[in-house]
Amino acid sequence: MTATRLPAGFSGVDPPAVWPPTRGRPRPEALERALDSLPGVGVSLRGKLAKLGLRTIRDLLEYRPFRYEPAAPVRRIADLVPDEEVIVVGEVLDISERRRGRLKILKAKIGDDSAQISATWFNQPWLMTQLRPGTRVRLRGKADRYGFGVRSHDLGDAIATADFAPVYPATEDVPQKRIRDLAGAALEHARDLPDPLPAELKVREGLPLRADALHALHRPRTEAEAEEGRRRLALDELLVLQLGIARRVREREGTLAPALGEPGELIARYRAALPFELTPDQESAIRELDVDLARTVPMQRLLQGDVGSGKTVVALYALLRAVEAGRQGALMAPTETLAEQHFLTVEELCRDLGVPVVLLTSALPAKQHATARAQIASGEVQIAVGTHALIQREVDFADLAVAVVDEQHRFGVEQRQALTEGGPRAGVSASRAKPATLLSGIASDALGVEQRRALTESRSPHVLHMTATPIPRTLALTVYGDLAVTEIANPPASRKPIVTSWVTEERSSAAYQRLQRVLREGRQAYVVCPLIEESETSSARAAEQEAERLRRAELRDFRVGCLHGKLRPADRRELMARFKVRELDVLVATTVIEVGVDVPNATVMIVQEADRFGLAQLHQLRGRVGRGAEQSFCLLVSRAKGELTDAARERLEAMVRTTDGFELAEVDLEIRGGGQLLGTRQAGLSDLKFAKLRADRPLLERARAAARELGDLAGPLADEVDAMFAATDPATLA
Ligand code: ADP
Ligand code: MG
Repeated sequence: MTATRLPAGFSGVDPPAVWPPTRGRPRPEALERALDSLPGVGVSLRGKLAKLGLRTIRDLLEYRPFRYEPAAPVRRIADLVPDEEVIVVGEVLDISERRRGRLKILKAKIGDDSAQISATWFNQPWLMTQLRPGTRVRLRGKADRYGFGVRSHDLGDAIATADFAPVYPATEDVPQKRIRDLAGAALEHARDLPDPLPAELKVREGLPLRADALHALHRPRTEAEAEEGRRRLALDELLVLQLGIARRVREREGTLAPALGEPGELIARYRAALPFELTPDQESAIRELDVDLARTVPMQRLLQGDVGSGKTVVALYALLRAVEAGRQGALMAPTETLAEQHFLTVEELCRDLGVPVVLLTSALPAKQHATARAQIASGEVQIAVGTHALIQREVDFADLAVAVVDEQHRFGVEQRQALTEGGPRAGVSASRAKPATLLSGIASDALGVEQRRALTESRSPHVLHMTATPIPRTLALTVYGDLAVTEIANPPASRKPIVTSWVTEERSSAAYQRLQRVLREGRQAYVVCPLIEESETSSARAAEQEAERLRRAELRDFRVGCLHGKLRPADRRELMARFKVRELDVLVATTVIEVGVDVPNATVMIVQEADRFGLAQLHQLRGRVGRGAEQSFCLLVSRAKGELTDAARERLEAMVRTTDGFELAEVDLEIRGGGQLLGTRQAGLSDLKFAKLRADRPLLERARAAARELGDLAGPLADEVDAMFAATDPATLA
């Protein structure tokens, strides 16, 4: 680690004045190397790092500390006072190890020229070989009545004990110290990361070089320096985002969508068939759609509305507008369960209207999959409901006019993009050829003259994106800057707000008594078991066991089904259908029911170990009840309050306090900080790593201005845009 800048304060030595050491040109390819190319990283550590999202040198370079240690004074041992966080520099005089139960305690006698003190480490037995007598050490920690409690130490350069030492997200598997060391090693490659900003812009905005910003991020000498580095990196990130959005808008400007005219007879029958009146918000959303659909500019609209606000009715309206015009509609959902659920809903309504609907997911047996594809390609089927299977290369629509993407923040941007490139004759003239284009399978030499002419102009369907995750306005501008936004602010008036309560485990029997009463009245319920992070298999097993237990105990008088991600799709569909027609009273489920499940007679939800869920997820889950006119209840069960983290307590309190998704989103933002708002699992884009959505509003404005100025994309900036907008791995979407 010769290249690292020594933080000030180590033995009074000032940092070297010259950085960087002279070296050859940047080698960006070095950044893509796997982490086991670093010294000391083997296969096992490589796997553990991957769990933190760290796979390449670049990942490490861009791994942002979530805070920095405060500055601590260097003290002579003789001058130590209890409970002051300080740095001690000295020599190991003696070392010994003891066990107390499972605890391994390492004690070292440390001396400087003023005195000696006994320093203690817990559960780090390997230090025994490193801290040999005679070794010089630098310790950060506090003196107490047992001696010196070590929080971190360094044997060479001051890294972990430095003032403003970075604190990274770490795990038990990969301790903080390890990440600090690796980040330090990665910094040797800071110069290999291209600096995409034009020099002129950097000068004008007074921005540090990117390599310097990375150094400041990982090895700051002051908090201000760290913040300056972060802001430079955040500006890059926001600029790239804005450039990508601008590019999408430009690409769309060159494409045409079919104009669908006025709503007609089929729509009139649809309205008549609905068992309720549309709400004013639904009506105005529909009016906006009608305006969009009448034009040849492809619609790109985001329909935002809290869970249960009634978006599906609007989505189906849009699909039927396509059908009415003799064309096709597609509804794409992020998970199998949601797609199947949508299919049940859509099919039921469409059956009465005489509109054929097909389900297409990758879980279908090959034969059924092929049949569905053939029906879509021939135009025999006018509405297709499915997962991302809909945008695979081999799926050709005869004439797709409207595509609806539900919970679209869960899809990768490229997948959204693929859908928009999916007009009847698209895929060829789209400005960038992408592998996963809807309808891109048409071989051009198999086309007639007419069709070939059509290929010269690019066609897109109208696209409606739907989301129930309330997206704060700044984020909407940031990430969805290219979409027009429609909001369904008020749910149907017949709705009573869900009553939410929070009980601890020892009092959960009361919750089940309440549940039994409601079930006896003929209502239905969900019991949600936590998703076990490690594997869907263990979650499924846990849910099965819990269902079994409930069948024998609290719910012995009732019919209990169990829904989880490991069921075969056909079984899952059957289970949902049975629950819908009330052949089952209770569905014990994992979080697979998080979105889309719609059974108005289900009025109670019990969430077990609710403290383990995120706020957005709890809100989504709760949205499965309260979908009819009956009063609904949500019971959150957690461990004893004293055992919970502050954040968990705040989440549960917020859930009890309000059912307003926007308010919850704001609370979430406060608890978690903006950058992670979308959560890795939910992010359509790779998460913003450096930008803070609230604090960086002015930065966002600067990025927008810079993006406008830069306009055309070339060189490293274009590569960065490509990288940021790269497709999310479909496997991570489920
Ligand atoms: P979401 O916005 O979460 O997708 P849904 O479209 O699934 O919401 O609607 C939730 C429930 O409300 C469904 O059972 C639906 O039938 C019902 N619903 C939708 N619109 C109305 C309305 N205008 N009046 C009464 N109930 C409605
Ligand atoms: Mg929905």
